[in-house]
Amino acid sequence: MTNFENPSDGVKKRWLMEQPIFDRIKSQGFSEYAKDMNLKSACIRPEDAPIRVCCMDEGTPSFLHAAGGGILLPPEELEKYLGHTKAQVLTSHDGCGAARIYAGMHGIDMARADETGLMWAKKTAEKHGLIHEHISASSMSRPEEGHFARVCYYDLTGSFDWRRDEGLPAGFTVSHKFMDTDYALKAETLTALKIAFGEHGLGHLLDADHPFILCAVAREEDLARALSELKSLPHHYDGRVEIEHITVPDF
Ligand SMILES: [Zn+2]
Repeated sequence: MTNFENPSDGVKKRWLMEQPIFDRIKSQGFSEYAKDMNLKSACIRPEDAPIRVCCMDEGTPSFLHAAGGGILLPPEELEKYLGHTKAQVLTSHDGCGAARIYAGMHGIDMARADETGLMWAKKTAEKHGLIHEHISASSMSRPEEGHFARVCYYDLTGSFDWRRDEGLPAGFTVSHKFMDTDYALKAETLTALKIAFGEHGLGHLLDADHPFILCAVAREEDLARALSELKSLPHHYDGRVEIEHITVPDF
């Protein structure tokens, strides 16, 4: 039985909407389930789309992600990430968990976390000759009050966007292809877990029958590495986290 003690009505509603997908994933495994999806469409980015860095947050749409738009990346890693991805647009958004982590690390009042995230993105965009966009709560594809995603996609393709196939569940996305493994795991993937299990996430809804899924998205040759990295991540949610994968075929 599902325990609806903590999350808000909006989060519960999205949870229930996605339950049929998770019932199928539970019986088939993610990999089998995803074979019925259009993975080509989910993994090949539209040619005319701007290269837009969005937060890992499931409410901010893109094929390219970094927590808080990159706010947690060490400066030299951020430089590499922006160069490697050829980013054109850098986004910030309302209610950003990564901006809260950044504020906590720098002794900034939590009430100013969103403003801090926005100013960071604006200044960073300016410094690197990028366009800055701010995504307001009303433009985000999740309830303003919290996160409903029960998947974190650990993407080794660098172009995966679950929104391009309506059968794929919503998820946080870690664009590992462009990040150092240690950072992708310990800063990004762990942040997704903390958010999902935290007060702005799913709380008690996540249990052994309804686990949070860390889902590697990789081509055959990268899959074993991605899975072994995910298995190596220590966390405090034993029994409530499962590791799954989507194998991306060659197109
Ligand atoms: Zn965010």
